[in-house]
Amino acid sequence: MTEILKSKRNLLELYQDIILKHSKMPKNTGVLKDYDCCYKEKNPLCGDKVTVSASLVNDVNEIKVVKDILFDGKGCAISIASASMMTEVTKGLSLKKIFDLADGVSNICKDQMLLANVINSFDEEVKNRLSSLQALTGVRNYPARLRCVTLPWEALTKCLSNKNNISN
Ligand code: ZN
Repeated sequence: MTEILKSKRNLLELYQDIILKHSKMPKNTGVLKDYDCCYKEKNPLCGDKVTVSASLVNDVNEIKVVKDILFDGKGCAISIASASMMTEVTKGLSLKKIFDLADGVSNICKDQMLLANVINSFDEEVKNRLSSLQALTGVRNYPARLRCVTLPWEALTKCLSNKNNISN
């Protein structure tokens, strides 16, 4: 296979249907009116910007969970898709599990990590949600784009940390 064909195939891998779909029609966009935390993060390498706002609620066990989450973003397809997918999988999760999931996302995108090992290292709830984010592993071929994927997750974890509500 020629180098050109090879890079074309890799690009196709990177911009899988799911990424395209999320970047063209992102879910959960905007800024919540009644947010408990809001955080803006930038990726100067690619020019991506994302603002994450979230509202929190105590569940039946008095554990803080994300009740609602929106993102407002400008940037490349990967960063928008990652943010859109993030808002889908974090709703209803406890803060602790969201931090686990953020670690998992960063790890599934690192080429030296075995995908199955990363995914299996979490509990069932996190595992299932992490599996649904596998499309993002396309960046394994483009390490320079890793930050595009992790940017929204950084914004969210900083947003949640700022509120001093990590006790759960
Ligand atoms: Zn980007």
